[in-house]
Amino acid sequence: MSAVNVGMPRARLPEIDPSAYEAAPGAPLVDTFGRVHRDLRISLTDRCSLRCTYCMPEQGNEWLARESILTVDEIERVARIAAAAGVTTFRLTGGEPLLRRDVVDVVARLAAVRGPDGPVQIAMTTNGIRLPELLPDLVAAGLSRVNVSIDTIRRDRFAALTRRDRLPEVLEGIAAAAASDLRPLKLNAVAMRGVNDDELVELVEFAVSQGAQLRFIEQMPLDAGHTWDRAQMVTREEILGALSARWELTPVPGRGGAPAERWRLDGGPDTVGVIASVTAPFCGDCDRLRLTADGQLRNCLFSTTEFDLVPLLRGGAGDDDLDGMLRACILRKLPGHAIDDPGFLQPARGMNAIGG
Ligand code: SAM
Ligand code: SF4
Repeated sequence: MSAVNVGMPRARLPEIDPSAYEAAPGAPLVDTFGRVHRDLRISLTDRCSLRCTYCMPEQGNEWLARESILTVDEIERVARIAAAAGVTTFRLTGGEPLLRRDVVDVVARLAAVRGPDGPVQIAMTTNGIRLPELLPDLVAAGLSRVNVSIDTIRRDRFAALTRRDRLPEVLEGIAAAAASDLRPLKLNAVAMRGVNDDELVELVEFAVSQGAQLRFIEQMPLDAGHTWDRAQMVTREEILGALSARWELTPVPGRGGAPAERWRLDGGPDTVGVIASVTAPFCGDCDRLRLTADGQLRNCLFSTTEFDLVPLLRGGAGDDDLDGMLRACILRKLPGHAIDDPGFLQPARGMNAIGG
């Protein structure tokens, strides 16, 4: 069983007893810190219709080779094995998942997967472009929830930030999601200094007007240009400070393993969330595992090690071998992302190629 190290010396990986790599079909995916993994993020493509500055370069992206992209059969097989091991949610992401031509088929095939406790949930994170045309078929295929990313509702800012003048299409996508039965509807916004940090209240008001919950995300060091600067990022405290000037914020208890902390606005029903991956990491409760579009398993967004499923999927390996690889990946999971460690290395892949 082989793991490919990406930018990190192998000697720094925790030593795991090789016998622990054995397949254990049906047993939960528990790591060495007792975290049970229930959520598989599946990236469908590294390609995208936007070029958000914090995620992708403007030009010169090295795309994954087309032949390396997992087929719907391969994705379904991994999902079935993960579900048998207790994964209950598949979140489709990318790149932009709606750019994948067979996205409706992917949803239909995954929605038919059953775990020991029955059906799984199929969620999607999208930039919203193409939602109006695709949402009815996605819902019919079994999509359970959708998150749409929108960092600004001002057209000039959107064009500068995403390097594409496509805000109207994103707004139409959000309107389509709001008109559907998919709930809860969540909107994601990365808070950025000098870009949208004067627009935080406006973004929440917009989300509320759509019947959606806004979740602010602290910017993470995952940009293709490696330009992230901790001193420049807008923190959870700053976000809460800005919102407190407009609303009384009451914490919502019962977060569980969810990345977002939530607050009621003026006693609620409406809420706002903050995903403070940098200043208040939630690694201790992480239940997530990732599959890249080219078949690499990752146990963390910030992982510098990947576990290659392609030789198994395309080399005639049995389901037990794939189950064993899932467990090997989980057993190598570190306690946290260590962004603040002096030796922190940003992963070689940009966010669009990892799957957010
Ligand atoms: N294209 C889809 C979208 O934008 O929703 C799905 C993929 S995108 C990588 C998933 C999420 O990751 C988005 O909400 C995006 O804002 C977020 N994201 C991307 N790069 C990020 C970064 N450097 N820090 C924090 N969030 C980031
Ligand atoms: Fe595309 Fe999403 Fe990355 Fe923006 S954040 S460039 S929409 S993958």
